[in-house]
Amino acid sequence: MLNSVALVGATHGNETSGIQLVKNWRHSGIPAQYTSTLTLSLHLANEAALQANVRFIEEDLNRQFSAAALQEQGSAQEAILARQLNATLGPKGDSATDLVIDIHNTTSAMGATLIILEASEFYIQLARFVKQHMPEANILLEDEKPFSDHRYLCTTGKRGVMLEIGGQPQGVLRQEVYQLTEALTHTVLDFCLAYQQGQTSNLPPCEGFRLGHEVQFPLSAAGEREAMVHYQLQDADFTPLLAGQPVFKCFDGSEIVWEGESPTYPHFINEAAYAKQHVAFATASLVTL
Ligand SMILES: [Zn+2]
Repeated sequence: MLNSVALVGATHGNETSGIQLVKNWRHSGIPAQYTSTLTLSLHLANEAALQANVRFIEEDLNRQFSAAALQEQGSAQEAILARQLNATLGPKGDSATDLVIDIHNTTSAMGATLIILEASEFYIQLARFVKQHMPEANILLEDEKPFSDHRYLCTTGKRGVMLEIGGQPQGVLRQEVYQLTEALTHTVLDFCLAYQQGQTSNLPPCEGFRLGHEVQFPLSAAGEREAMVHYQLQDADFTPLLAGQPVFKCFDGSEIVWEGESPTYPHFINEAAYAKQHVAFATASLVTL
C-alpha cells in the first residue's frame, strides 16, 4: 500500500532547493495530480536552522533517527526536534507514513541523485521508474546496513528516500538545481501514482551506484590538510575513476594518484558539509537494479 507521503525540506537548514519547493507548494498548492489518490504532506524539518541559514544549530538532524538516539532523550535542539518529527512522520518502526521523501542539496556536482537504502522490490521499481523517466538522474544505493539502522530522517517512514541535488553552494539557490529538484520530486511522486495502479512491476533493469567507503584528505601529523582535490577529479562525480588517475594535488607540488578499486565511481567530491571531517569523496561500485 502506498497512500500517505511526506515531502520534507530543511532537514539541513541551508539546503535551499527543497526548502523553496516546499514553500512554493505551500503557497500555490500541491500539483493537483498528486492530491486525488495520495495524502501528501509538506514539512520544513528544522525551522531554526533554516532561519539561521545553517546546516544545523547543535547537531546534525539527519543523524538523529536511529532507534537508540530517539530513545536517548538527548537535549540538543536537533535531538528534541527529532523526537517531535518522529511523532509526526513515524514513529520509526511502526510508521503512519508510507513514504518519506527528504530533499537535500550537495555542493558536489552530483546532479539529481536518488538515494535508496535498500535494494528490495519497492526501491528497485522506484529506481527503474526514475531512470526510465529521468535518464540523467543517478541512483545511489546505501545498503551497507539495514534500512532501520540508518540514522536518517527518512527512516521514520515505512519507506524512505533522499533526493540529493547538486552542485549548489550552501545557502544559495541556483535555477538549474531547483529545476532538477522539481523534476526528481515529480518523478518520484509520479512513481507513487503508478505504483498505486500496479503499473511498476515490469520495468527494465537499470544501473545504479552502491556506496563503498569514504576517502580522507591526506593530513599531517598535526591534523592539517596536505593536499586539495585535484582539478581533474573536482566535479567529476559518478565519472569512472581509474587506478593511476590523480585525486589530490599536494601543497608541496606533488600529486597523489588513485590506487584503490578500479574503476570506482567517486561522489560527494569536496562536499562542504563533510569538510570538517576531512572527507574528500566517497567511492561506489556499479550495481544493476
Ligand atoms: Zn543535506
